[in-house]
Amino acid sequence: MDQLGEFDQPIYRLALHQFEQAAEVLGLDPNLRERFKTPERALVVSVPIRMDNGQVRVFQGYRVRHDSSLGPSKGGVRYHPGVNLGEVAALAMWMSWKCALAGLPYGGAKGGVRCEPKSLSRGELQRLTRRYTAEISSVIGPEEDIPAPDVGTNEQIMAWMMDTYSMQKGYAIPGVVTGKPISIGGSLGRSEATGRGVVTNVLEAASILSIRMDQATAAIQGCGNVGSNAARMLVAAGAKVIALSDSQGGLYDPKGLEVEDVLKYKHETGKLPGYRKAEPISGAELLTLPCTVLVPSALSEQVTEKNAARISCRILAEGANGPTTLEADDILRERGVFVIPDILANAGGVIVSYFEWVQDLQKYFWSETEIHQRLTEILSGAFHRVYRLAQERKISMRMAALITGIEKIAQAHRLRGLYP
Ligand code: NAD
Repeated sequence: MDQLGEFDQPIYRLALHQFEQAAEVLGLDPNLRERFKTPERALVVSVPIRMDNGQVRVFQGYRVRHDSSLGPSKGGVRYHPGVNLGEVAALAMWMSWKCALAGLPYGGAKGGVRCEPKSLSRGELQRLTRRYTAEISSVIGPEEDIPAPDVGTNEQIMAWMMDTYSMQKGYAIPGVVTGKPISIGGSLGRSEATGRGVVTNVLEAASILSIRMDQATAAIQGCGNVGSNAARMLVAAGAKVIALSDSQGGLYDPKGLEVEDVLKYKHETGKLPGYRKAEPISGAELLTLPCTVLVPSALSEQVTEKNAARISCRILAEGANGPTTLEADDILRERGVFVIPDILANAGGVIVSYFEWVQDLQKYFWSETEIHQRLTEILSGAFHRVYRLAQERKISMRMAALITGIEKIAQAHRLRGLYP
């Protein structure tokens, strides 16, 4: 842990600790360990834009590639006030393990701009996105590194990124980003893919634990792309969603929230608090509610040593990246909580992003049924491989998922060798 350098942030330490634990279990070659601990490259850019009031403001932007031994790198772009180089590098490392675990021909990357997107006008957001894309355009591309949405970004931002990159090249290049609107090369099923994938994993875990979904309750932290779609899919699977939260507060109804009605309210007002047909609760209270399934779908480091002993769910499905700290992981394990780790639980997003990229390259588009079927096939396969390994080696689901992903990349490095 002595070479954290410019990446030194709590979340990078978490990613690195997880990697080191997995490398120990794998008995990974020390030379490969060295190569995996830091990203292949990290680009820091200044993003100056003219604000609506005429002033120029400069934002910090990042694009980090962790590994590219299996193919072009892939990872979302985050717009959030907490974005920093260490966070982006940690998220890029997790993307490497996640893509390899799912068997995708991709390496891991991530990007971000430190900003509060909610405080920017549509025009400012568009100028920010276009300038950020121009600054990182030398390192992205359909064969090199392919961005996608993450916290604070959406399909409109992807459309502006695709347009900026395409204008520079002189022709439309839809494959440079995924998570685009369908009319410009996006894929059916992409917008809800991460939430759908979370619930596919939950159903597999419930079947192993003999839990009936029509008797299950769920609490979901975060009400954005991942949280809202996970809520919808859990209801479709027969569960009662008893609590939901966003950055401003939460809602609770032990009889089950009317999820579509709550999401409509959130869409119209921009927040959950104020919704009349449920009790208000704090985001912290939501995490410790007794329930069958808890789905953290917001930011990292939410389940910590401070609240882990009070977490009262049977299945914790990590919709978010890095929501559980190392200390909390140990406590949850001792208490018998079935943790579906982030790199497995939320892999549905990058899997359908891969489908989108394949469709863009082939210029041939698939039906929604085909997409759902292929997503379920890949995810359920990954879940069972991880579960079997965890049982055989008597290790946690997280460790089994990590060593599966890491070993795949290690094998690519062993075969390709060290350049020059
Ligand atoms: P988003 O911006 O659409 O939504 C984030 C949500 O979290 C918002 O509702 C926000 O209000 C809420 N939030 C923020 N701080 C909170 C807090 N302290 N308490 C409760 N809620 C809070 O982002 P998203 O795309 O849904 O991503 C959520 C998580 O899932 C992130 O960790 C992201 O990295 C991960 N993820 C996203 C995808 C994807 O396809 N979008 C794929 C894999 C993983």
